Order: sequence, then structure tokens, then C-alpha cells
Amino acid sequence: MPNYLIQRLLILGGLSIIGILFMQSYWLLKTWDIKDKEFDQSVNIVLRNVAQRMARYNGSILPKTGLIQRRSSNYYAVNINSAIDPAILEQYLIQEFSNQAMNIDFEYAVYDCFSDDLVYGNYCSAENNTLNQLKDSKKKLPKFDDLVYYFVVRFPSRESFLLANMKMTITFTSLSILAIIFFVYSMWVILTQKRLSELQKDFINNMTHEFKTPLSSVKIAADVLANDEEIKKNKRLHRYTQIIREQNQRLNDQVEKVLNIARLEKDSIELKKDIIELNQTLNEIVTNEALKLPDDHIHFQTWHQPVFVMADKLHFVNVITNMIDNAIKYSPNNPEVKIILEEKDAIFVHIKDNGIGIDKESQKKLFDKFYRVSTGDVHNVKGFGLGLYYVKNICAAHGWNIQVQSEPGKGTTFSIVIPKQLKI
Ligand code: ADP
Repeated sequence: MPNYLIQRLLILGGLSIIGILFMQSYWLLKTWDIKDKEFDQSVNIVLRNVAQRMARYNGSILPKTGLIQRRSSNYYAVNINSAIDPAILEQYLIQEFSNQAMNIDFEYAVYDCFSDDLVYGNYCSAENNTLNQLKDSKKKLPKFDDLVYYFVVRFPSRESFLLANMKMTITFTSLSILAIIFFVYSMWVILTQKRLSELQKDFINNMTHEFKTPLSSVKIAADVLANDEEIKKNKRLHRYTQIIREQNQRLNDQVEKVLNIARLEKDSIELKKDIIELNQTLNEIVTNEALKLPDDHIHFQTWHQPVFVMADKLHFVNVITNMIDNAIKYSPNNPEVKIILEEKDAIFVHIKDNGIGIDKESQKKLFDKFYRVSTGDVHNVKGFGLGLYYVKNICAAHGWNIQVQSEPGKGTTFSIVIPKQLKI
């Protein structure tokens, strides 16, 4: 994946995460707020009903204002302006909370004006709705000097009650957080993989570069040896010198291939396009390639008219050479390679062989980097799986198409398709 794409992905991903976190926190706080308002409303209804019942029981009149006062988030004072019987109060409270279907623990206390203190009432658990008889007289709830006849109710488990009412919101928040963690983890994996692959690429690039100098030295030395009169006379030495030259050339070709791929991936491909005439260029390539096979096994079928296209000649020669090399490599018995140039609705360069062929499944992955058809024992040809990857990239950079037709056991035809509009 190119650097700029990863950068964009990181920026967009980061912004989305910030956005999601912001929305999620806002939604969470808003829901908490709404649930708290609902809680307050229900508590108000319960306490008002209790106060009214107490007033009816006492035959007193409730104050017009300030009947129920929320003194803190979970602490309410009810100013009923008449004497309060704790036993009756407790009964009413339990009944009214149950009528409102509010399953929440609460504790209450009643103000005693003789002792000028709040007398702790009871802790009522929502679980069984019976009184928790462990009356803790030492338990102190804050009192209020501005009120005379009043009782207070406190909800020790208000937070957990509100949270229990926000199950949906909490589930969605957890899912979003999971998604964010997954995204961050994926990005971390991508970045680590990228760093590793860059290290690997740099290493291969440097290593192959290091090979180039000794290879050139060996080539010069082998050429000198091959042209030496003494060696020419000695058949055995001459043969050895030839082997050195051939193997050196082979190694050089492989190093070039790897370097070409490294260059290809470093930046976007820069093509130095020239006008080339395909009959002539292909003829030159075929003449060179024919030297690799004894007898007349490579044929070039020219087109009856000149065909001019814009192409980077060096890359074009590499592409065709690669495909002819493959055609020879993968045709173990009497290779017959045909290069056909034709111009119909597009310009076609076919490279046809009578080799081992490629099955349908492998044809789909043929142009992937490092892909080699697994052949078991059928043939034992060495390679990196980079040739066709290079071919595909160069064709794509020119705006050409590459197609393959093949039947296992019968042969393969690779076709480069150059759209007519790219013709000169
Ligand atoms: P390499 O030849 O170095 O393995 P390539 O990228 O050139 O890598 O080719 C990828 C694979 O495609 C080869 O391993 C081979 O199995 C298959 N292949 C390529 N050309 C031919 C061909 N003409 N006939 C049969 N198989 C081929």
C-alpha cells in the first residue's frame, strides 16, 4: 500500500475515532441526564403522594411551595408541616415506590424538634421490599435548619439504578469501543507489516546492488579469458570459460529482474516513451532470443503494415523477453514459440508456446508478486515469481492490457492488447 494512502487512512481513521468518541460521550451524558430527570420526576411523584397521604392522615394542610426539595443528587427533604409517625411514613413510602414500579433502595429519617435532630428511620431494600430491620441509630443524615416538620429520603444506590436503566446505551458504547480497539489494532498491524516489508525491500535492493559490481568484474574477466588465443585452442578450458560467461549472464539477469521490481515499487513508474515500430522492435528481440534455442524454434509472424506505438523501449523489450523466456522455460519438450503481431480492433502481441500450460485456478493469480504455479514433480524450473508481476505493472503503466489463454498440457498464449487510441 503506498505511503500517501496509509497516511490518508490514518488521518481519516483518527478523525472518525475522535468523532465516534465525541458522539458516544455526548450520547452517554445526554442519556444519563434524561434518566436522572426521569428519576427525579418519579421520586417527586412518590414523595408528593406520600406527603398528601400523611397530610390526610394528620388532617393537616401541606405548604403551597417548597414541599419537596432536592438537596443533593440523591437526597430529598419533604416539608410536610405536621407531626410525622415514622411507622406510617415507612409504610406509605414502600407502597408508593412500589406503585411507581421504582425498585430502588432508600433510607429515610424524620426530624425530631425536641431533640433537634434527624432520627434515622430505616433502610428499605428494593430486593425483597421488606424492612431491613438493622436500624443503625448512629447513622447520620444531614439536617436542615430552615425546615421544621420534615422527613428526608436518601437513595444510596442511585448511580447503579440509573446505570441499570441505560443498558442499551452502555451496550452500544461498549460495541463502539470494541470497534475502535479493533481499528487501532488493525492499523498497528498494517504499519508493522509495512515497516517489515520496507526493511525487506531495502535489504533485497541493497543486496542485489552489491552483487552488480562483482558480476561485472567476473564478466570482464570471463570475456578476456574467452578471447584469449591459448584458451581458444584448449577445448576444455574454452568450454569452462563459456560456462562462466553463461552462468554469469544468468545471475546478472536474475539480479536485474529483482532490481527492476525494486525500482518499480520505489516510486510510481516513470516511463521514457518513444515512438517504436513493433515489427522492427519485435524482430530484434526475437533474433536475440533465438540464440537461446538451438535450431529454428522461435517464429515471428509480422504484420503486413508498420505499427507505431508510444512505449518505453527498454521496458517493452524486458516485457517481451520475459514472456519469451517463460515460454521456453515452461516448454520442456521441443519448444515451439510463436510471436504474432496483428492489428484488428486493437493491436495484439501474442506470445504462444506449446508448453505445460496453466490451469484455470492458477491463471487468476499468475500476475501476483512472488506467485509460482505449484507443479509438484512435473517440472523443476527455478524462478522468483516476479517476471509476470513486472510485465503486468509495465503494461498497466502504458495503459495496455495483458491476457492469458492456456490449457494444461497443450500450451499457453499471453497477449498484450494495446488500445487503438494509443497508436501513433
Ligand atoms: P518465474 O518464471 O520466475 O517463476 P513468472 O512471474 O515469470 O515467475 O511466472 C509465474 C508463474 O507462472 C511461473 O512460476 C509459472 O508457473 C507460470 N508461467 C509463466 N509463464 C508460463 C508459460 N508460458 N507456460 C506455463 N506456465 C507459465
